[in-house]
Amino acid sequence: MGLVLKNGRLLNLETGELQATDILIAGDRIEAVAEQIEASGHEAIDLQGKAILPGFLDMHVHLRQPGFEAKETIETGTAAAARGGFTTVACMPNTRPVIDSPELIGYIYETTAKEGSCTVLPYGAITKGELGEELTDIAALKAAGAIGITDDGVGVQSSSMMREAMRIAASLDLPVVIHSEDEDLAKDGCMNEGVVSKRLGLPGIPGLAESVMIARDILLAEETGAHLHVCHISDAWSVDLVRYAKSRGLKVTAEVTPHHLLLTEEIIDRTDAQDANMKVNPPIRTEKDRQACLRGLLDGTIDMVATDHAPHTEEEKKRPFQTAPFGFVGLEIAFPLLYTELVETGQIALHELVKKFTINPANVFKIDRGVIAVGNVADLTIVDLEAERTVTVEEFKTKGRNTPFLGKKIKGWSVLTINQGRITYRGN
Ligand SMILES: [Zn+2]
Repeated sequence: MGLVLKNGRLLNLETGELQATDILIAGDRIEAVAEQIEASGHEAIDLQGKAILPGFLDMHVHLRQPGFEAKETIETGTAAAARGGFTTVACMPNTRPVIDSPELIGYIYETTAKEGSCTVLPYGAITKGELGEELTDIAALKAAGAIGITDDGVGVQSSSMMREAMRIAASLDLPVVIHSEDEDLAKDGCMNEGVVSKRLGLPGIPGLAESVMIARDILLAEETGAHLHVCHISDAWSVDLVRYAKSRGLKVTAEVTPHHLLLTEEIIDRTDAQDANMKVNPPIRTEKDRQACLRGLLDGTIDMVATDHAPHTEEEKKRPFQTAPFGFVGLEIAFPLLYTELVETGQIALHELVKKFTINPANVFKIDRGVIAVGNVADLTIVDLEAERTVTVEEFKTKGRNTPFLGKKIKGWSVLTINQGRITYRGN
């Protein structure tokens, strides 16, 4: 007995058409895709005309386990992913201990098999403990199942160490995923350096702290032949640099978060006592930077959307702005935010946005997901494009409450998520 999804509308990622479709799932695979599939003998769910999309992939998530289970666990983080329509997430290694050994890569896979609500693909650290002092055994990390290497949370400051990491990663065909931050330029900044930080008297992080490191790493990638993937791009110069790298035919790819596409540094000005729920790294920058990120997403310079889902406890986020930790949660609201703000306003077509959540990350990281077709793994998300709901923490599956989008009314929520043939979220 399989599962039949009846009366859905499958989004054609080439033409953007929504076509009346039934889907039969057997085991973890898509068995049939047709206008009409006989439901007898199978469990059936009536989709009532809702949109059928490939399950989303998010290549930048902090699941916080092991070590920071008060913020999030693999169980709660992947439940949040499922609610957001995600079927695959890549988790960052800045846990405690840092995921810098084959054993810890194995721990992520084993814990996900027991407690996870989506596929979890771990990154391994570039340097031991993310301390920037000594390289990890990158070949062993890959053999254990790491899908890339990164010291996300901090930038690799040493150029010679990054060069050596890229040489090794290139020989292994493993992506080098960079959190670009020059610590000497960023110093103890807590928001974007600019007119708002000056007005508020807060130390700023210049956009340059990001873009100079991207420039360095593009040069190192060209020399070594490594695949460089730029995390959470936030600055106009950074977008230009990635565009330049692509024009040279380099293996350079990039992601952008919903918050860098939708917000400007003015959010900090507007809130009382500079609410730390507005604090994130890289910081929210200017309207010019936001426009550059959006243009980069539209013209293909930026390949994909990633959330940088970064939960913290309420207690941590209640600290004063300067000492509270950086980060927003994002998994549960990423797609509806961008659907509402970019698709409904006519800035991007639905199928073009969906590609940034599905086939693009799958292709960049060579993951066998992101396409609905017979024989493929049954990873699907069913989205209601009509119903509007308010973002409330009461409905969150994540332990995090830290988002600047609370109270926002948005459309495009997932109502059913299926990962490897298994229902991982069902809403209304
Ligand atoms: Zn980062």
